[in-house]
Amino acid sequence: MTISEDKKYVMNTYSRFPITLVKGEGVKVWDKDGKEYLDFVGGIAVNALGHSHQAVVNAIKEQADKLIHCSNLYWTENQIELAKLICENSFGKSVFFCNSGAEANEGAIKLARKYGNTKYKGKRYKIITAKNSFHGRTYGALTATGQIKYHNGFEPLLDGFVYVDYNDLNSLQSAVDENTCAIMLEVIQGEGGVNEADSNYLKEVKNLCEKNDLLLIFDEVQTGIGRTGKLFAYEHSGVVPDVMTLAKALGGGVPIGALVVNEKADIFVPGNHASTFGGNPLACAAGKIVMNIISQKSFLDEVKEKGEYFKGELEKLKSKFSIIKKVKGKGLMLGVELDTNDGSKIVKKSMEKGLLINVINHNILRFVPPLIISKKEIKDGIEILKDVFLEMNS
Ligand SMILES: *Cc1c(COP(=O)(O)O)cnc(C)c1O
Repeated sequence: MTISEDKKYVMNTYSRFPITLVKGEGVKVWDKDGKEYLDFVGGIAVNALGHSHQAVVNAIKEQADKLIHCSNLYWTENQIELAKLICENSFGKSVFFCNSGAEANEGAIKLARKYGNTKYKGKRYKIITAKNSFHGRTYGALTATGQIKYHNGFEPLLDGFVYVDYNDLNSLQSAVDENTCAIMLEVIQGEGGVNEADSNYLKEVKNLCEKNDLLLIFDEVQTGIGRTGKLFAYEHSGVVPDVMTLAKALGGGVPIGALVVNEKADIFVPGNHASTFGGNPLACAAGKIVMNIISQKSFLDEVKEKGEYFKGELEKLKSKFSIIKKVKGKGLMLGVELDTNDGSKIVKKSMEKGLLINVINHNILRFVPPLIISKKEIKDGIEILKDVFLEMNS
């Protein structure tokens, strides 16, 4: 099979790099010509335990032998156990399972509307989100996404969404009106360029929500499950949302999404929402092992420490290369803002030298490697980046 054949049969929705990956182990992946790469993309924050982690592989194999799927007309043990693990390790009271980040956000949007419509007799349906946010590609999640480039050509979008500047309390306050039911934010904007919310801002947002009886929804699809050095990124600020959405890393590579709610937001009843595949035994078996490993304090402490080391090394590069404007992010969700729109050139050169990285918006390099990465592997990646920056300079 050649790439030109793939192009013929696979729909043209991604601008892909011309390599075909066939194998992964830990932080390494191999293409079909046998070339080895250090993977600092990690499936975009999905492969938190690295590629083909033995415990994840075993959990999937064992479950596949027993029961892969059954309808949500019946109970399954893995779904109950994973929901319990998530609740015991977060603010959550209950969990709904689906299959992706966008779907988890669709659930959150429906839930917010139900909350507003029920309590305020149909008067509260507006959801405020942030500019530069990313919440997914289905219509609700797409409309929630505060980036026009993703909307273009797909109008009309849903009614009732308002966008405000991120980290700007005034803009948020003036957007709240008698029709608002919820505020939905990422704790660190991922696709928007690794932008962190200020702790103070989040505290004020929470106050605003409490004062006006709005649901606070945190989209932790990318930041959740240990990515930032805490199990959930909201823990850094101590600001606890009413609703949280999860996906990416939760299944160790197997598709799964989750909608987590507190007591106040636990309002869905049978008939309100459903998913055929959501919470199936296979995905939940993977989710259980991921949660069991990543929720350990020693694991999270290591993520924090390795993140600080990585960030420090990037800061060192910044002091050497003026092309780097800013280093940002937390834990192992890091970004480098460039003084150029040549980001994809850097990604390409890195790939040639055996390092996979990601660029957002042409000017922000993003690093979301497996959380099991070693300091040595971080250092190896940094050395490759240094070579690439040297070449860019000459
Ligand atoms: C990736 C992402 C999504 C969308 O997840 P999909 O699984 O691709 O639908 C939503 N929100 C955030 C913050 C994300 O990073």
